[in-house]
Amino acid sequence: MATQLQRNSRYSEAEWTARQELAACYRIFAMMGWDEMIFNHITVKVPDEEGSYLINPYGMHFSEVSASNLIKIDIDGNKVDADNPWHVNKAGFVQHSLFHRALPDAHAIIHTHTTATMAVCSVEGGLQPTNFYACNYIGRIAYHDFEGVTVREEEGVRLLEHLGDKRILMLKNHGPVVLARSLPEAFIKYWGLQRACEIQLATASMGRPVMIGEDVVNVHQRDLHQVQIPGGPGRAEFDAMVRKVDKIDTSWRD
Ligand SMILES: [Zn+2]
Repeated sequence: MATQLQRNSRYSEAEWTARQELAACYRIFAMMGWDEMIFNHITVKVPDEEGSYLINPYGMHFSEVSASNLIKIDIDGNKVDADNPWHVNKAGFVQHSLFHRALPDAHAIIHTHTTATMAVCSVEGGLQPTNFYACNYIGRIAYHDFEGVTVREEEGVRLLEHLGDKRILMLKNHGPVVLARSLPEAFIKYWGLQRACEIQLATASMGRPVMIGEDVVNVHQRDLHQVQIPGGPGRAEFDAMVRKVDKIDTSWRD
């Protein structure tokens, strides 16, 4: 991010940057209405500290998250930040922990319960090739049958098996899990998925959607990758949203 405040001296430069970026991401989600009261999580690895992760304080709304109130935890969800008075939703971290542990490329993980994404996770056939954004994801999404709240470790084997080499897992009847190599990349993948689901929901309410053929989906996905924006996947979009958040409130930086 272009205009960062001086880092808090308690943290390394890398950790402070990760904290600010993650706090900004929570604020973006709140601004977009993708928050779920005090629930759901966006987690990232602490870049310079193997086995440490950052998560939102349990009990706090996404719009209240800031760089210094994010909690540092180990892979099992135990608090490493002794001074942080907030608690961790350990049960909520179970599936994040599973993916962070098993997949070295899962730097950032987003899981939500938004109406549009949960609705698409709850319909027969899941995401359908019926709109522009959905075409970005067709064939690139995995599905996992609902087994109840995802807190049992033995479900982990099946979650990983179903995810396979995909990096978006639609938990049926529940919600999406988006994994990425960076937070901006996770954000942009999530944004497109959210839009695809919103539009599917709107289209279904009007009548029979126009299906897009496999050949067109393939051409769309091939040509999409020719569009390059500087700064890596999602960076320009993420930074634009941060500037929008700043017009509401800049306290996420603290
Ligand atoms: Zn959930």
